[in-house]
Amino acid sequence: MPHTHIWWIRRDLRLHDNQALFSALQGADQLIPLFIIEPELMAQAAPKRRAFLLSALAELDRQLKALGSRLIVRQGPALPALQALTAEVGTLSIFAQEDFSPFARQRDAAVAEMMDLKRYPGVVFQHPESILKADGDPYIVYTPYKNSWLGHPLPTPADCLPSPGYLPPLPPGLESISLPTAASPDGFPATPKAALGRLTAFTDQAIRQYNSQRNRLDLDGTSRLSPYLRFGLISAREALAHAHIARLRTQTDADRAEVQTWINELVWREFYTAILYHFPHVLKRPFREDYQHIPWRHAPEDLAAWQNGQTGYPVVDACMRQLIATGWMHNRGRMIAASFLTKDLLINWQEGEAWFMHNLVDGDPAANNGGWQWTAGTGTDAAPYFRIFNPITQGLKFDPQGDFIARWVPELRHLPTPFRHEPWKLKPEQTDQFGFRLGSDYPQRIVDHAFARQRTLEAYKKRN
Ligand SMILES: Cc1cc2nc3c(=O)[nH]c(=O)nc-3n(C[C@H](O)[C@H](O)[C@H](O)COP(=O)(O)OP(=O)(O)OC[C@H]3O[C@@H](n4cnc5c(N)ncnc54)[C@H](O)[C@@H]3O)c2cc1C
Repeated sequence: MPHTHIWWIRRDLRLHDNQALFSALQGADQLIPLFIIEPELMAQAAPKRRAFLLSALAELDRQLKALGSRLIVRQGPALPALQALTAEVGTLSIFAQEDFSPFARQRDAAVAEMMDLKRYPGVVFQHPESILKADGDPYIVYTPYKNSWLGHPLPTPADCLPSPGYLPPLPPGLESISLPTAASPDGFPATPKAALGRLTAFTDQAIRQYNSQRNRLDLDGTSRLSPYLRFGLISAREALAHAHIARLRTQTDADRAEVQTWINELVWREFYTAILYHFPHVLKRPFREDYQHIPWRHAPEDLAAWQNGQTGYPVVDACMRQLIATGWMHNRGRMIAASFLTKDLLINWQEGEAWFMHNLVDGDPAANNGGWQWTAGTGTDAAPYFRIFNPITQGLKFDPQGDFIARWVPELRHLPTPFRHEPWKLKPEQTDQFGFRLGSDYPQRIVDHAFARQRTLEAYKKRN
């Protein structure tokens, strides 16, 4: 009997630095590169995220064909799909990159009970079980987690595995579902080449100003690698190895600090993955039990205004429209938008979490939940609830010329900078001068920030 191995592809859509693939190749006479369409996951995926995934799978298929193989696609759920494959080809071993969401862990546990499933690292660099407090408990605060995480050596490019130059053949006669074709969302070509190109360009240059520029909405100061990390077109190890080299190349403490901040962001990603792993309840309720009973408002019209970028607060609307148009939002924008929903509108963070997951090309349950709970003040490492973002000063600080607003809220483009942030401050004669009518060209504010702030402070106090 030939040794048949399955490389079960999930969040590792790449041939390079792939520990599951690398292991699957050892001793394999036949290799099945397999993707299983999970109906439950596909139904939840944002259209742009699904398009990115489909486009990345098509690219992977092209790369496999160049090596004499091809992608086999089957309909899920996973366990029956894998059992059907075993019936077709005989006994086999399955090699997969370990995933940490509750759905993935349950699925994998069910498969491992019935079949030979081997799991390998890759989604994150440090396994959630490997960064624990001295007493063996998981960390629930970022800074001590980060300090412990950084106590381990960073990888170098030499630690990353090369792409295989050869793949064993498929068993003869295997059928595959054909995937719908989809163009990857603008700005995010779904190829490992694009991902590596972006990583290299970013770590060669922009990373040296990352700390100073990462909060500016109007600048291109962040890597925009999130969809690539989400689906594993690059590995966490590669991203860290590149950052490590960038840090070694710095000459001054100030430059080192700029680079270190980016490494710290990758550690946030690992932290939230670990939180979801150790505390899966966060997907259903607040991390902190005492924040279960905040009297959230049921306000469908306000929610719709927020979702559609029609709140009358320019920076919030610009962020929300960027999300709808591109499937991506700047981290500062995510914080501003999330704060507005939870603190200005007093709408449950879970509504926002769901809307982001419906729209983000990088939508990731761990990072998204972590970001929402942090902003709402219900999470592990939460900003205290009385720290409420002022949407006007946030805009003025992080989009000083109003360029970001002008880009996404064209109704305000013709106004001078200060009025882009506060169009309600235009005097009547100026509204004629600029041909702009608040209320018809652009909405009035749906809530007064000072009033909303007070309302939220009282609601959070009353939560018990
Ligand atoms: C409310 C809210 C929701 C969020 N939802 C998601 C999400 O669904 N998916 C997602 O990947 N990130 C999410 N984030 C984190 C962060 O906003 C994005 O990772 C970042 O904006 C992606 O842009 P970038 O690739 O240019 O990031 P960079 O600034 O270049 O950072 C590099 C990488 O580090 C990781 N990262 C950076 N910041 C964070 C963070 N705060 N938490 C976790 N990982 C981080 C990402 O993988 C990112 O690609 C959310 C943040 C908030 C406040």
